[in-house]
Amino acid sequence: MQMIQYYSPHFGVIDLLKTVFFRNSEEKLCDYFRILTGKKYVLITSSCRSALYLAYKAIGKKGIVHTSPLTCKIALLPIIASGNQIYFNDIKNDDWTINPSTISLTISEESIAIQAIHFGGFPCDMPSLREIADAHNLILIEDCAQGFGAFNSGIATGRFGDISCFTLTKNLYGIGGGVFVTNNEEWYIHAKNIQSIFKRETNIKVIYRIIQALLSSFRKYEPVNCIYNILKKVNRNKHQSYDLYYNFSIFLTKPSKLYISSVCSRLNKIQELVNKRKIIGMSLAQALSNLGVVISYSTSSSSSYTKFFCTTQNKSKNLIQSLNKAGIEAMHLEHKDKAYYQEKLIYDPLFTNHIIYKDLDFYDKIHDNLISLPLNDCDVSSIDKIIRVLKDIIGNKW
Ligand SMILES: *Cc1c(COP(=O)(O)O)cnc(C)c1O
Repeated sequence: MQMIQYYSPHFGVIDLLKTVFFRNSEEKLCDYFRILTGKKYVLITSSCRSALYLAYKAIGKKGIVHTSPLTCKIALLPIIASGNQIYFNDIKNDDWTINPSTISLTISEESIAIQAIHFGGFPCDMPSLREIADAHNLILIEDCAQGFGAFNSGIATGRFGDISCFTLTKNLYGIGGGVFVTNNEEWYIHAKNIQSIFKRETNIKVIYRIIQALLSSFRKYEPVNCIYNILKKVNRNKHQSYDLYYNFSIFLTKPSKLYISSVCSRLNKIQELVNKRKIIGMSLAQALSNLGVVISYSTSSSSSYTKFFCTTQNKSKNLIQSLNKAGIEAMHLEHKDKAYYQEKLIYDPLFTNHIIYKDLDFYDKIHDNLISLPLNDCDVSSIDKIIRVLKDIIGNKW
């Protein structure tokens, strides 16, 4: 049975050769992000999570950060790891991103920042968040890991934030890396100085990531898929043995030059892949909403569809398992461990001592029922299959 893959880095042998043999300058990548975000200072990091960590360290204050609970752990661990508290504000009913009006009501003396997370590729309501941040002297940090290529009121994600952070994997199809951008020279220098203390990414890790990207890109061939799964299992067992929060520093490495080369050598191709995914995302959204599945939508923004979330009335756990059995690699919120279901972060022992929250009505309604469908390698026939299988599994309950 051919699997419909959740994600593919689209990393082929030619990409490998270009990555290893062509020396692409870091400056080219920095210029790309300068133009995209309109920011002066760009720092390449080893991941988006390390960029976010540097953002909180660079601003030189500690306190409460307002953000939304509908996301994966990795988007929020940098806030805690840098010594801050999280205030969970509710999401909006339409696009499932943070609701700005709930932030204004919950700001206190201790509030220092807002972390806008562009969930499922839908940009947060950035004009409103900008206004609130300015009115209350808060720093606006944009987590663009799921929002590269998305627009809010015609403005690209990353342009509104005081600091904006990107990943070079996900939409950018790299083998690793992240980006920190800002117009604030002082913060940039501070972030750069802190990063200089991190150790460099080990060669073993870089080689592992290259192998993983290659295997992952050719998983439609069964022997490749088999090796990929073995590697994944080994890696997962290794990861279970450490505590993500107390060992957050293992993520804080200096980026490998190969990460930069891999993205630089493919910058032209990336826009094409992003465009393709948007078209497929929109047609999947259309087809599912015709079937009565609830999808996020927005009238003021266009999603990059880096991830595709939908909900049904049923708890997602069993549905996701059934989708997986039918050859569709769906999951709940977290990608890395292919988790069927991510417990609410408010119950997660890593978070409980570091969070504040009050009314989370819309979030409560959505969280348990969320399903993330594969989009990356989809074509029309995959979309047909996803729709057919969903219909079979849920039957005529909706
Ligand atoms: C994936 C993701 C991250 C982390 O990106 P890495 O480059 O893997 O560290 C951060 N925030 C969000 C919203 C994400 O989806």
